[in-house]
Amino acid sequence: MQETTYSAACPSGLIVTVREAQVRDVKQLGKAARDSRVDSLAEFLSALTVGVEDPGPYTWSGQRVISTDGKVNWSAALQGDSSAMFINARVNAFGTDLYFKVSCANSLCRKQVERHIEIKDIVQHGLSDLAFKTVTEHGTDHQFELELPRCGVVVGWKLLTRADQHKVDRIIEDKIDEVGPASLLVRLPYIAGCGTPGERSKFVNHLVVSDSDFLRESYEEHDILLEDMVEVTCSRCGHIFETPLPTGKDFFSSRSAAPPRPSKNGRSKRSTNSDTSQFLEEDTGTSEAR
Ligand SMILES: [Zn+2]
Repeated sequence: MQETTYSAACPSGLIVTVREAQVRDVKQLGKAARDSRVDSLAEFLSALTVGVEDPGPYTWSGQRVISTDGKVNWSAALQGDSSAMFINARVNAFGTDLYFKVSCANSLCRKQVERHIEIKDIVQHGLSDLAFKTVTEHGTDHQFELELPRCGVVVGWKLLTRADQHKVDRIIEDKIDEVGPASLLVRLPYIAGCGTPGERSKFVNHLVVSDSDFLRESYEEHDILLEDMVEVTCSRCGHIFETPLPTGKDFFSSRSAAPPRPSKNGRSKRSTNSDTSQFLEEDTGTSEAR
């Protein structure tokens, strides 16, 4: 059978040829997800990618992103690229419409609010010139130096790959650390004057807020960003709040591609059981100001 393929552009500049997802891919995605040590998203995207049209910043073999036979290892690609590709694959499989429900953020209300968005409209920002150059250069491990303005310490700032983000997700899942420090330690592989893991951990935990803000701004300036926070207005209390794009349960499913159907007893009907449920329940790291 002739496979349908299409061209997909990532925010970094990488352009790949991708085939449409098949039932076996989605089944594998759900199966692998039950074992959190497996990065099911990266495996899913690697299976769908059949060729490379433009390598973007992934121009040399040491990055382990593009193999000599033109396969893409999404674990080694930047996290923002893999998030964008996942959204792209969803659009190609089920269309751009995404319907979901979210609890009202007003603790006195908590109504389940229905929301619809077109995911093809999510704005993507690419790498800064410095970040692009860092990824293309040999031996940088996607790191460049920054000097923290308040404490004056020089740190190595790392653009996270999908594998790095998966590591952060596992740390959070195992509740080894709070979200902020765990994520920050992976992003700061080098901190001047801090040799041991204990010293590095202490440094991150005692970082003053202005330096922490500087790092967040640096992230926004240099790394791939997807504007995937969704504004929701509660239909009951009128409260306006933001929620991350729900890329977990039901995202890669026809269930979220059409409005929920009212059932006989008048309540809307949507199965809570999905082949794709469980994978990346935490998130896919698409929303990234953390
Ligand atoms: Zn409300």
